[in-house]
Amino acid sequence: MHDDDEDYIGCDGEDVPCDHDDYDTDILTGRCMCWRCGESWYATAAEMDRELRFQSEYAEIMEREDRRQRWSDFWWAVRHPLATIHWELSKRGWFRKPAVSDDDIPF
Ligand SMILES: [Zn+2]
Repeated sequence: MHDDDEDYIGCDGEDVPCDHDDYDTDILTGRCMCWRCGESWYATAAEMDRELRFQSEYAEIMEREDRRQRWSDFWWAVRHPLATIHWELSKRGWFRKPAVSDDDIPF
């Protein structure tokens, strides 16, 4: 009469099947291992494909980020001396247009 609960899986937590959410894939061997229950299995071709794509996308993103950083360093290196030169020349009046400023009128 009161045995209904015995078939109820999951109320004590131990019978809940692990959904292998946290698993690691070895892309060389195709072997997966669940961090939670320790179960290991071999990934299917589709899973391997997804994992490889994910890893190469990640590598691509990191590479792009790295390249962006190098470009901004490069542009800073190129633009900074130019900006300095421009400022130096401006200070000497190379870029000053005559008669624009009242200060230049000598009378
Ligand atoms: Zn698991």
